[in-house]
Amino acid sequence: MRILVTGGAGFIGSHLCERLVSQGNEVVCLDNFFTGRKSNVIHLLDDHNFELVRHDVTEPILLEVDQIYNLACPASPIHYQYNPVKTVKTSVMGAINMLGMAKRVKARILQASTSEVYGDPLIHPQTEDYFGNVNPIGLRSCYDEGKRVAETLMMDYHRQNRVDTRIVRIFNTYGDRMLENDGRVVSNFVVQALRGQELTIYGDGSQTRSFCYVSDLVDGIIRLMNTEGDDLHLPVNIGNPGEFTMKELADEVGKATGRDIKITYLPLPQDDPKQRKPNIERAQRLLGWEPTVPLAQGLKKTVEYFDRTITDRSSSTAK
Ligand code: NAD
Ligand code: UDP
Repeated sequence: MRILVTGGAGFIGSHLCERLVSQGNEVVCLDNFFTGRKSNVIHLLDDHNFELVRHDVTEPILLEVDQIYNLACPASPIHYQYNPVKTVKTSVMGAINMLGMAKRVKARILQASTSEVYGDPLIHPQTEDYFGNVNPIGLRSCYDEGKRVAETLMMDYHRQNRVDTRIVRIFNTYGDRMLENDGRVVSNFVVQALRGQELTIYGDGSQTRSFCYVSDLVDGIIRLMNTEGDDLHLPVNIGNPGEFTMKELADEVGKATGRDIKITYLPLPQDDPKQRKPNIERAQRLLGWEPTVPLAQGLKKTVEYFDRTITDRSSSTAK
């Protein structure tokens, strides 16, 4: 199959491209390199089934493909808040452009949505039929509302134009190829621990997240794309239901790095969700999917990656 991956040079996108190429598909990786890097896919460039295109999804493009994974969008709060107007444009215009292409070439399209569509959730764990509790005017809304509109567009193109759509609500995902200055909690904690720095917990550290290792996530979204079924155009949660407070995560990072952990407490960012855990019954039932990598194991692999790659190691011997 000929497959387009937008945001393909990013953290999740590069793992997805790698998996799709290894399955014998022709893959076009499209990226504007805002948070993605050529180095994430450099090992694929010699493969005649892989092509890298520099392009911004806010601009139209026409490619002849069978499937589109629309992942283009910065995912870390510091990156999506850097230029919030651009973040909205990326989600909304990006979805319109990719859906227009899908309609024209009759491709199946999967939109990378997010657990952030549930906002600061009032039901726990989150099921797909929960409408969410999102602040429409806060600092996170450029991302949350952008993704909610992207979901709306998927549903409307499906109902109005019969485009073959899929929506995956991705919960916090981690692993190798996250940027060391990415700003998300797992990469921050691992890099801080390896440098012998204090781990920065925002708030009192009692907020929870559920962390999915990237190989499990990629497996889930490929299954969603390739499973047939009448209600598969409706959103599906993909995430690991193992739930941890940020304090517990800091302890786990201590164990995975073998370092003594010191913690510094910083203010909690605006609208930071207090709890998050996916209900994955829909993915289990419709896709036969569930995660296989527990946090301790995934963290170990992530630590090995950052141990090999982080640049400033000046205080990394500190215990
Ligand atoms: P990432 O920042 O590593 O990847 C995003 C990629 O999109 C980057 O390569 C970036 O350069 C590219 N991009 C951004 N704006 C673009 C534009 N206008 N045109 C073309 N390319 C553009 O983040 P990630 O963690 O790999 O996330 C991938 C997708 O998954 C995103 O859509 C994100 O919202 C979604 N998601 C991720 C998580 C997570 O925990 N990692 C959770 C929920 C949803
Ligand atoms: N967080 C933290 N220290 C950090 C980075 C993040 O305590 O150095 C917290 C953040 O406030 C949030 C959680 O970790 O409660 C997850 O943050 P992240 O940005 O990784 O993901 P998101 O909030 O988008 O789920």
